[in-house]
Formats: sequence, structure tokens, C-alpha cells
Amino acid sequence: PVKHKNESPTALDDIFISVKTTGKFHQSRVQIIIDTWFRDAKLQTYFFTDIDDANFVQQTGGHMVNTLCNKTHTRKDLSCKLGAEYDHYMKSNKRWWCHFDDDNYVNVGRLVAMLRDVNHTKDFYIGKPSLNYPFVTTYEGEEVRFWFATGGAGLCISRALAIKMKPWCSDGGIYQTSEKLRAPDDCTLGFIISNRLAVQLTESNLLHSHLEILNKLNPATLTEQVVSLSYGLGAKRQNFIQLNDSRFNIPISEDPTRFRTLHCIIQSDLCKHSVRPY
Ligand code: UDP
Ligand code: MN
Repeated sequence: PVKHKNESPTALDDIFISVKTTGKFHQSRVQIIIDTWFRDAKLQTYFFTDIDDANFVQQTGGHMVNTLCNKTHTRKDLSCKLGAEYDHYMKSNKRWWCHFDDDNYVNVGRLVAMLRDVNHTKDFYIGKPSLNYPFVTTYEGEEVRFWFATGGAGLCISRALAIKMKPWCSDGGIYQTSEKLRAPDDCTLGFIISNRLAVQLTESNLLHSHLEILNKLNPATLTEQVVSLSYGLGAKRQNFIQLNDSRFNIPISEDPTRFRTLHCIIQSDLCKHSVRPY
């Protein structure tokens, strides 16, 4: 662990966790999070959504933020939401901002362990690169190229870096920068950080989105190393993690994302004694 002068090692309470969601996914996606990993980071996790939903406000202990952004899966609306996540993070005094999508499972203990080894007073942008080559586009008539981390794999930004991002981010700035760049929200973050601020993306192989083939991940590493993972359950492709722990054999029909099963394996003491361990 990195320890600085007069400072405690980074702990869970030093992290602000934001989860992007939308009204129509509260039941189908947010509920699973509340039933699983949210329990491990109740005070640190906030959901950024686009409706007032009394049921979920209650279930999260008031940790649902209605961003007042519009409700579509378009660049404008997603950047609006990420902007709200940034603004809320800046108001917290935490060392780290970690963003996730609502189809991510976060292994909270591993997240803390990952960040314990990184100096939050330096500039850090930790994520999974979206492409294996730099993204190229134009900004104010100039060609720009940069790497960016996939939002859907989860990413973390140190406070030192978040402060430097202000000119492009604060007060809805992410939305405006994303419009000028004509690029999605996660791509815009990469532009601000790795192009404007020349801070390199720190690549982590502990973060996984559904752009990967998730059943290729080794079940043992899922519980012991992986910080985040995801699922994709479309009509065309069923993409979810493979688990092989005979103690927690929840059928796929009852746990298609596998998050409930995974959570039981990670929190084995919690689930051991009940028939339906969630
Ligand atoms: N999302 C949203 N509004 C929408 C659709 C999606 O805010 O109208 C959020 C969703 O909750 C998730 C993220 O955007 O956190 C990515 O959405 P999704 O997983 O459906 O699509 P992907 O981009 O991963 O294919
Ligand atoms: Mn997704």
C-alpha cells in the first residue's frame, strides 16, 4: 500500500462510486446491484438516473440522484449524466471517483485493494482501453488522437486529476466538450485526460465490460482478483461469466446475470446457510 506523510492508506470511504442508470433499468438492473454489491458500499455508492422513483430512493437510502437529463441512449443524454456524476464527485471530498454502468458488478473489496496501491495525490486515470489503437477525430478544427477507457468496464480517476479536468468538466462541461468532440461520454473523458492534459491511461486488466467474452474469464480470478465485470443478455448473444462453485448452484434461469451467485461466492459466510442465498 502507498502511504503518504500523515495519511492513512486508502479505504472504502475515500472512494466515491457513481453508477449510471435510467428509469427503465431500475427494476431490471439496479435491483440486482442493491441486492448484491451495493450492500458492501452503501454509503459510498450513488445512482445517477433520470426519474424520481420513490421505491429505489427508499431502497438506496436516498442515494438516487435525478440528474434531470433526458432518458435516451444518445451521446447528449449520456454525457449529461456523466457530467452530473463528476459534479457530485467534486462536491465530495474523496480521494477517488470510480464510475460504473448499471450492468457492472463491483467487487468492492478488490476495488479498495486496487486503489490502495495507487497514489491519489498524483494524476491517475485507471481503466480498460476501449480500442487497441488511439481514437482519432477533430476538435476545434484540429486533428486529435487519444486513448480512452470503456465506461462500461468501470474506471477510476484520482482527485488530483479530477481537479485538473475542471475547465472541460465542471458545471455541465462534460456535456459541452462531448458535443464539440461529437464523441460519447467515455471517449470524451479520454480526450480531456489523455489529450488535453497528457495524462496516460493506466491500463487495468481487473476491469471487464461486456465487450469481452465473459465466460473466458477464469472463475477463480473472478472472486479473487477482478474488480468489475458485466453481462450482455440480448436476443442475439448471451454473454455472462462462468462460475463453478458447487456450494452456490443458483440456476441460470433464476440468476441470468450470475451476479447473485458470484456475490454469494465472494461473501460465502453471508450465503452459506440459506436455501436461496440472496
Ligand atoms: N443508459 C442510460 N439511458 C438510456 C440507456 C442506457 O442512461 O437510455 C445507461 C445504462 O443505464 C448504462 C449505460 O447507459 O449504465 C450503458 O447502457 P447499456 O448497457 O444499455 O448499453 P451499452 O452502451 O453498454 O451497449
Ligand atoms: Mn452495457
